Amino acid sequence: MIGILKSMAVTMKHALDGKTFTVEYPEQAPEVSPRFRGIHKFSQERCIWCRQCENVCPNNTIQIVMDEQRNGEQYNLHVGQCIYCRLCEEVCPTDAIILTQQFEFTGDTKHDLVYNKEQLKNVPWYKDLPDPLASREPDRGAWIGEGDGEIDYQ
Ligand code: SF4
Ligand code: SF4
Repeated sequence: MIGILKSMAVTMKHALDGKTFTVEYPEQAPEVSPRFRGIHKFSQERCIWCRQCENVCPNNTIQIVMDEQRNGEQYNLHVGQCIYCRLCEEVCPTDAIILTQQFEFTGDTKHDLVYNKEQLKNVPWYKDLPDPLASREPDRGAWIGEGDGEIDYQ
């Protein structure tokens, strides 16, 4: 009984202090932690097709298809089964794959969330995500050796 009264007192204290910890989503976008792990961005220009991300992924979310000369041809992402462990980002030597803070996407089944590179370019919730390196500190873009033109993340 005393425990219930104590917990109710704590609840009332926070109910009346005027502070709110929730937002009216989706009208108001929540602020996520800087370390939040959301959907990936992949850059074909930065990728050297080493397949380390594919090998380290614990559940085959990433599939890389090579041609007969072992040139990278296709990058497939099975988004619906990703567990956002970030191992792929950590192992990538060129920052070609980076987890963003985007979490707003839906599908009826995980099979609705399988994309290849070309499809990802046209997914509404995906295509306009900014270059995630731009918001990273320190600025790791400095050593990547940018070529001419914009980095094309898919
Ligand atoms: S975050 Fe983890 S589960 Fe998702 S693609 Fe990367 S390695 Fe695989
Ligand atoms: S680890 Fe990075 S460079 Fe290697 S295949 Fe994956 S995205 Fe490309």
